[in-house]
This record gives sequence, structure tokens and C-alpha cells, in this order.
Amino acid sequence: MLHNNMNLPNIKSFIPLANFTTWKVGGQAQWLAEPRNLDELSDIIYMAKQKRICSHIIGAGSNLLISDQGLKGLTICLKKMHGCQINQKTGVVEALAGEPLPNLARKVAKEGLHGLEWSIGIPGTVGGAIVMNAGAQDGCTADKLISVKVLSIPDGKLYEIKNDELNFSYRTSMLQKEQLLVISALFQLDPGRNKKAIIEQTNNNLNHRLKTQPYHLPSCGSVFRNPEGLKAGRIIEEIGLKGFCSGGAEVSRLHANFIINKGSATAEDISNLISIIQNKVEEKHGFVLHPEVKRLGFE
Ligand SMILES: Cc1cc2nc3c(=O)[nH]c(=O)nc-3n(C[C@H](O)[C@H](O)[C@H](O)COP(=O)(O)OP(=O)(O)OC[C@H]3O[C@@H](n4cnc5c(N)ncnc54)[C@H](O)[C@@H]3O)c2cc1C
Repeated sequence: MLHNNMNLPNIKSFIPLANFTTWKVGGQAQWLAEPRNLDELSDIIYMAKQKRICSHIIGAGSNLLISDQGLKGLTICLKKMHGCQINQKTGVVEALAGEPLPNLARKVAKEGLHGLEWSIGIPGTVGGAIVMNAGAQDGCTADKLISVKVLSIPDGKLYEIKNDELNFSYRTSMLQKEQLLVISALFQLDPGRNKKAIIEQTNNNLNHRLKTQPYHLPSCGSVFRNPEGLKAGRIIEEIGLKGFCSGGAEVSRLHANFIINKGSATAEDISNLISIIQNKVEEKHGFVLHPEVKRLGFE
């Protein structure tokens, strides 16, 4: 049972989180904060610490499965901390954690900066992309990242962490294990390129996705990590699971590594479908597919 006894400004209670995820599932947040700047965020973290309340950080919720039971404690959504500064001459770009990746990709392309064309179709925030080391085609977030500014939840202090200290590899970073909140990121993009070609490449990347992935339906993108040298989508397709359903959740007929919400899916439907896929793959191939998507609120 969730209780609202926090009574703090800028913090709402009993907020349905389905609207905060691209899968459009999930129960309520006991408390929800959407800070618009670092001062508001620092106050919220300070108050949560004083009251010994656990916090969950979310960006655009595009890689999250939030349980139907919702989240106890405080959910902090960083989407309202957005914006970026672009130096067209040097190619140095500073983006706040809540800046949508597709917006950033468009803005830097317009300035003729090369290096984020791959990110146009990824509906996450800069903060979430860094934590996940999001990537596509031959690019990933780590490639052009200089450093990140983080707020440490345990001590409430700000730190700058350089790229090589973040232990980036395929869809992972050390930030997935630490209680560090990404506030902003510094990128070094390549200036002086042909602006028209960069815009064209960015548009082509988006068009390719629209054709090959079920973009018009709620999903979280690829559910499973690709096993080394293999494609999770191909493995799932070969087992014949395209179109397979659990309640309102369905293995996409367009791209088998996507699970789509047909409209009435619950987090449990999706979670069950993930388990079914894992079991069938293990039965057939003897190895387990590991989810890329992060689960929150599952005991
Ligand atoms: C249609 C679709 C296509 C996609 N395509 C791709 C793709 O091609 N490549 C790819 O890599 N991903 C893809 N994704 C997945 C997703 O968009 C990325 O993982 C994205 O980077 C997640 O960002 P987010 O802001 O939504 O993070 P969330 O999903 O909100 O959070 C993801 C994780 O990061 C943490 N987090 C978020 N923000 C912060 C922060 N500021 N500080 C600390 N922790 C934070 C959360 O606690 C959580 O653990 C796709 C998703 C969809 C829906």
C-alpha cells in the first residue's frame, strides 16, 4: 500500500507511470518529481535523503519496464532538464540530461557537425543514452563523449567523470551500477563537414528505422541484447515467435526483437512474454538471451 505523507513542493503523489514510458505500461509512482534545473534537482535529492526515501531515476522511459505495482519511493524524471549549447566552430556540444536524443541529432546536423547521425531514431534522453551507451548502425554514445557531470545521490555532490572512467562497452556503462545521476554531457563532434550530407544521412537513418521497426506502436526498442556475433531478433524469428502474444503484448511481426503493446498490455504480460522467449531460445539453443531493457519495481 502506498501512502502520501511527504507533502513537499514540486513533488506529486500517485502518478501513473505508464505515460512516462514508451511501452505505456506501469503502475503509479508513490511520489514523482520532474525538476527543471539543477537547483530543484539538488533540493529534491537532499529532501529524499533527509527522509530516507529511495529514488528511481528515469529519462524518457524508452528502455524501461515498470511493474504494474508501481514504484515505491520517489521517481525522478529528468525530461524537463533539457537544452544544449553547440559550438559550431569547435564541435564541442554540451547537452543537459533531459535533452531528447532525436532533437540533439537534428540540431547538430543543422550546424554541420558529424558524429550523432546514428542517434536520430532513438527516443531516449541524453542521460539515458549515456547510462545505456545507446547506439545504432556503427555508432554509440561513448564514441564522441568527452565527459559527464553527475550528481551523487549518497553525498549530494557534483562530479565530472571522463569518458575512459565510465567503463563503456556494448549497451553498458559503470553508471548502471552506481547511484549517480547524469546532469549533463560534453561531446566532441566533428566540425567543418558538409552540412547537406550530414542532414541527408540523419534523415536516411530515420527513414530506414521507420521501415524496419514498429515505430508507430508502443515498445521499448530491442528487448534483448545481441549475443556475441548473433542477432537476437533473427534468433527469435527463426523459432517462429513473430506475432506470438501474451495478453496484450506481442512479438512484433516487423522486428522480432521488439515486443509491442497492442493497446491493453500490462507489465506482467510483457514480463511473461520475455520469459517465454527466453525459455524457448534456451530450449532450442542452450543459451539465455539477456534483456537490454531495465526493470523497475519488480521484487
Ligand atoms: C522505438 C525505440 C527504438 C529504440 N532504438 C534503440 C537503438 O537503436 N539503440 C539503442 O541503444 N537503444 C534503443 N532504444 C532504447 C532506448 O531508447 C535507449 O536505451 C535510450 O538510451 C534510453 O534513454 P531513456 O532516457 O529513455 O532512459 P530510460 O529508459 O528512462 O532509463 C534507462 C536507464 O537509464 C537510467 N537513467 C536514465 N536517465 C538517467 C540519468 N539522467 N542519470 C542516471 N540514470 C539515468 C534509468 O534509471 C534506467 O536504468 C529504442 C527504444 C525505442 C522505444
